[in-house]
Amino acid sequence: MIATRNRVIFRALPASRPLVVRHDVGASQPPTPDPDWVADFRATHGRDPNEQDWQDHLLSLRYPGTGPNGEWLERDWQVYYRLVDLLGGDLLSQIGKPGGHGTGFYSGIGAFLALWKLEPGPDGTRIAYVRNFPAGGIPPNTTGWTWGNTILILEGERNNRPLLMHEYTHVLQYRHKGIGYVPNYLKGGLYNWDNNPYEQQGVEVQQIYEWNPWLPPIWEIVWVGGRSQ
Ligand SMILES: [Zn+2]
Repeated sequence: MIATRNRVIFRALPASRPLVVRHDVGASQPPTPDPDWVADFRATHGRDPNEQDWQDHLLSLRYPGTGPNGEWLERDWQVYYRLVDLLGGDLLSQIGKPGGHGTGFYSGIGAFLALWKLEPGPDGTRIAYVRNFPAGGIPPNTTGWTWGNTILILEGERNNRPLLMHEYTHVLQYRHKGIGYVPNYLKGGLYNWDNNPYEQQGVEVQQIYEWNPWLPPIWEIVWVGGRSQ
């Protein structure tokens, strides 16, 4: 039993050594959150944290917030949770996964449109920086176009991070919906950024990143099922 083995190891430690910082002694157990953080969390939120809360905390340590020492302020957490709620578990659980055959099929169309001028992008995506039709693969009056894991970005928008987050949101949508994505998308209307639900989601994500450039990239979110309520 893992618990028994832990106890044996703990007993072998010098008595002065705080046991609380030892974790993950049994390799199959997830790391235990830092007890000081747990106490802090309880005091602030009036509830016990869960694994998602711990992962979100670790994310906040990797990416500075807007506080004077890079800590995440209350409003930073609100912005982050707004992003998380907007994407939802359906999409967040697709991070780190390649998507199925449907996504692969659409990725191939994207690669064709990009004339295979693809660069490696985040989280298994490939990005091409191209021009609008007819010189390049992006429709007129459009700055980005996503097909499966293939993202086409207008040449001049290479450093447009909010736009990349918009297009990456489409990647997660493809991974979630598979081959049914494009028929579903078309029901919402082409070039219909205001009313197509897939576009509404992308546009809103883009806006959050425009207003909050400090936010970690979506693909850095470690999704383990949602925070405790
Ligand atoms: Zn879009």
